[in-house]
Amino acid sequence: MPRFNRRARLDTSQVEDRRGVGGRGVVIGGAGGAAGLIILIIAVLLGVNPPPGSSPGQMPTANVAVVTPGETPSGQSLAQECRTGADASRREDCRIVAYVNSIQRYWSREFRRRGWRYTPAETVLFTGYTDTGCGEASSEVGPFYCPEDKVVYIDLGFFNELRTKFGARGGSFAQGYVLAHEYGHHVQDLRGILRRIGNSRQGPESASVRSELQADCYAGVWAKHATRTGFIVSLTRSDIADALNAAAAVGDDRIQREFQGRVTPETWTHGSSAQRDHWFTTGYRSGNMNSCNTFSGHI
Ligand SMILES: [Zn+2]
Repeated sequence: MPRFNRRARLDTSQVEDRRGVGGRGVVIGGAGGAAGLIILIIAVLLGVNPPPGSSPGQMPTANVAVVTPGETPSGQSLAQECRTGADASRREDCRIVAYVNSIQRYWSREFRRRGWRYTPAETVLFTGYTDTGCGEASSEVGPFYCPEDKVVYIDLGFFNELRTKFGARGGSFAQGYVLAHEYGHHVQDLRGILRRIGNSRQGPESASVRSELQADCYAGVWAKHATRTGFIVSLTRSDIADALNAAAAVGDDRIQREFQGRVTPETWTHGSSAQRDHWFTTGYRSGNMNSCNTFSGHI
């Protein structure tokens, strides 16, 4: 785990806690069977949410999930529990706040330096499923950024899945990487890059893969500067290895080999393990978003 600045004041207004809220307590999913689930995870894992009309809530999911309202998270609200960097060392949800604060402080400074305008994006923590600007979302889809409401959605249970389902070794900085990847999509959105994806949604050099790899690269850029944001005191090699390990664990080739038994690059949406490792590393080494030009040449 990175060392957090014990005295840093956390800004909990950037994170909304909907865990245990559950919404309507209705049964969702049930249509697709196991194959549906696998396709769904491949399609949107760490992804940009598809535009309305193909929202994840409308896709088939394998499990019939019954959300129980009133299943509240233990302890008090984030605002009460997550005050300083010391709390980030103590509690996972406060750590999420610290990562979000750090990522957005970096990008707001970088945008200002370049004469651009950064608009902060909220992260919503949820369990089960939740309503989003991109439709109803189940946690089966993995963390995602919704360009319609400009919000990052994440069920913290995903980090257990990273270990149990995707074979990542876990580690706290994997969370930093995942959040920074999603905020990478927000940066793309603010810069008008997300609109470029167009119809090229699959294949090893598709616009979708190029966009995902750029988000990985932006995550690396933030990691390079994370200790200068005031929230994180130090990052070790082992922290960076946690990020790379998580990025590789969700590579399209690795997921396909594991869940469909063979690798079909023509259906890649996020890039291979090697590509994701390469672009995170590129961003981390340069610390400069200009190095993240994944939209031209070979990737
Ligand atoms: Zn993504």
